[in-house]
Order: sequence, then C-alpha cells, then structure tokens
Amino acid sequence: MDNTVKIGQRFPLTIKRLDINGAGIGYYKRKITFVTGALPEEVVVAEVTAVHDRYLEARTHRVKTPSKHRVTPVDPHYGQVGGIELGHLDYAAQLAFKRDVVAQALAKFKPTGWQHYELRPTIGAANPLHYRNKAQFQVRVQDGHVRAGLYAPNSHTLVPLADFATQMPLTLRVINQLCTLLETLNVPIYDEAHNSGIVKTLVVRESSATGEVQLTLVTNSEKLPHQTQLLAAIARDLPMVVSVSQNVNPGKTSLIWGPHTTLLAGVPYITERLQGLDFRLSPQAFLQLNPAQTEVLYAEATKALGLAPHETLVDAYAGIGTIGLALAHTAKEVRGMEVIPEAVADAKMNAELNHITNAHYEVGTAETVFPQWLRQGFKPDAVIVDPPRAGLEPSFIRALLKAKPKKFVYISCNPSTLARDLVPLSRDYQVDYIQSIDMFPQTARCEAIVKFTRKA
Ligand code: SAH
Repeated sequence: MDNTVKIGQRFPLTIKRLDINGAGIGYYKRKITFVTGALPEEVVVAEVTAVHDRYLEARTHRVKTPSKHRVTPVDPHYGQVGGIELGHLDYAAQLAFKRDVVAQALAKFKPTGWQHYELRPTIGAANPLHYRNKAQFQVRVQDGHVRAGLYAPNSHTLVPLADFATQMPLTLRVINQLCTLLETLNVPIYDEAHNSGIVKTLVVRESSATGEVQLTLVTNSEKLPHQTQLLAAIARDLPMVVSVSQNVNPGKTSLIWGPHTTLLAGVPYITERLQGLDFRLSPQAFLQLNPAQTEVLYAEATKALGLAPHETLVDAYAGIGTIGLALAHTAKEVRGMEVIPEAVADAKMNAELNHITNAHYEVGTAETVFPQWLRQGFKPDAVIVDPPRAGLEPSFIRALLKAKPKKFVYISCNPSTLARDLVPLSRDYQVDYIQSIDMFPQTARCEAIVKFTRKA
C-alpha cells in the first residue's frame, strides 16, 4: 500500500484505456489510477482527488500530449456536472467506447462462448446534442436570483444551467421562463440549509411529436403561495405547457418525488408518438429520455424478436407498455408486467387509446408475475426483457430457462449486469449478436440489445 500519495498531489501519467465510467486508466507506481477527463494514449498531469487502499482517483489537471480523438467540449459546464462526462471525446470514438464497454463486461464475467459473440458497432444518434426530452432541475436562490440546474457531482451545490448541451432547447426555455416567473411573483424557493421555502424541483418534459410540455413543481409543502398568479402567468407566457402538476415531497430527502401528485392546470398528460402509436404520459410515467434513439432501439428490438402473427409475447419490465403495444399488431397476444401501478394504468389507457385489444398488463415484479403465468399454463413463444440497471433477478432467470421461449431478446442499460446475467442464460441460449445503441450521447452510459437463439 502506498501511503505517501496525498490528495491534491500532481504527477504525469500515461493513460492506457477508459474504464466503464469513461475515466482514463493509468498506473502510478503500479497503483491503478482513474483519471476523469483523460483519454487513451494521452499523457496528462493528473491531480489526485481521493486515495484508496487499492486505487487512486484523480482529475486531469493538464493534458501534455492530447489524443487525436480529443475535442473541445461544446458545453461550458463540462467538468462541473454529470451527464456530459465524454464531452472531450469525438463522437465516433464515443461510439467505439460503448461497444468496448460491452466487451470489457463480457471479458470480466465470461459467459459461455463470449469470445465469439458478434459485437455490432454501436448505432449512434443522428443528433448527439439537444436530445433529452426531460429536465429535472433543482431550484434555489443564488445571489438573490432564482436559479435552476443540477448538483455538482457528490454534492448539493447547485450549478445553474440556463443552457445545457444535451437538453432539448424547449425544456430549457420553459425552465428559464419559470425561474423568471417564480422570482417576479415572489414564490418562496426551497432553502435546503434551513429546510424552509416551498419550490424544490422543476420537472419539465417535452413531447417531440406534439411539442406539448408537461410541468411538475415539486414542493416542500402542500401550500403553493401565489399559485393563481403563477398558473395565469404560465398560461400567458408558456402556452406549450398543457399539463401542470404539483408533487409534494417534504423535508430533506434524496428522492426527487414524494408520494402525492395533483393536477393544477390543463390536462393530466401529454401525448408522445412512438412507432406510430400515441402514448399519453402522466407526470411520473417512465419514458426513454431520447425520443429519436428510442425509435431506433424499438426498431432494433422488433427486428431481433422477429415475431410471427400466431406468436405470444411477454413484455417484461414494461414501463407504460411502449414496447409490447408497439408490437401487439404483429403478435397473437401480448402480456406485460411492471412494478409501478401508475405505469400499468398508463399502459392500459394507452392500449385503449390505440384500439389494441390483445395486450394485457399487470402490476407486479417480473420475478413473481412471470412464474405465476407459467403455473397457469401460459407458454410464451417470445419474451423481451428491459430491466433497470440492477438487471434480472436470479429467480426470473430460472423461470425463463424453464419456460424456454423460442425467441428471447434482452434490452440492457447496464453492460455489467447484462454480462452477469448472460452467464446462466448462455447455457441454454446462444447469443446471436449484441447491438449497442447510443441512447445518451456525451455520457458513458451504454444501452445494448441481445438477440438469442434457444439451443436445441
Ligand atoms: N420497457 C420500458 C421500461 C423500461 S425501464 C420502456 O422501454 O420504456 C425498466 C422498468 O422496469 C421501469 O418502469 C421499472 O419501474 C420497472 N421495474 C423495476 N423493477 C422491476 C421488477 N422487479 N419487475 C418488473 N418491473 C420492474
């Protein structure tokens, strides 16, 4: 153990590769060192930010020899907030990095046959900027003004973001105008240090198909002073905001949302269009954040599944049912499950809205509902899973291996848990290919679709 290294210490370092979070990896006196903002083949002056027994964390103080893939980050907040951590890497290299993250995860977990998996080149976004349809910004008073933005990493220090390279411009225009209105109308803003004030967070979501905007004000208490004037001003200045709700989340908590949401003005949903269907979104309904790439993701999933009209499909981890409903017209029957009751209510409403009668959604976890269906004698021909970062529960995998669906597709937002889950899955299923898709340009996050074929 090297006890001599101190926080703030600087030394030159040669960067070998990127880790799965997009940090450069180098070795300082044989100790692995993760350097944010550094790229492979660069020599940088690293500045130590944390010392651990087995590794060091550092940031790039200065680049001595730049990589040919280094670019100047377009966003001036690069390095101050998350969400743009690969802003210094050219886009083609970002895509190559994401494919490599999948390769690194496979090499770590070594599922059956992993050396021979076809890792397809990452499908990039036509527009790697201004893609996010939702802004969830904290609101605070700074220097006497109402400001909205994101926290600096590992802190509760607000970095105000009047502009941000990955946000859809309308989401920011709405946030900026709201800050002006809140300030002009003297609506009390949350003060974390004293746990006083009212408005904590602004959640703004835009439909890329209709241009409608949904606003949720997250507040520290039920009362919202000057509510009438605020709603009138929103209607006057921001006519695209067709849905305004309040969510009450009292006290100091790391969760953004409290349990209760009430509609203050307009309609309870906005409408987004995906794969030719209309989806109504209530304020808390999960929707993929990059609408353009969601079309690509779902098209790739559809292709990988290759459903026939007589086949039954299970849409596991369904959210508001976007995948299963988009595929319902190509299947005999769709069954889906999802743990959030409001999302299932949205899935049912969206089935009706699109005149889909062969889709059925249920509240519950995949690991309990799926085995129940099997016990009731349901035999799915095809299964698609789209779990959160934690991946699949072992009991779900066991049930799947027992059900042995002919067709199986896994959408993953976390290559590490994907590679872990492939270990048991690859005993009975052959991995035909892994297609990574860039849903989050400028970030290190990586989405991938796995197409399987059942072994005989
Ligand atoms: N397929 C959807 C949603 C994917 S996000 C889409 O493309 O939009 C993953 C979803 O899984 C979330 O909606 C989350 O609420 C849900 N979820 C998390 N754990 C779950 C579990 N154990 N069983 C079922 N759903 C779960």
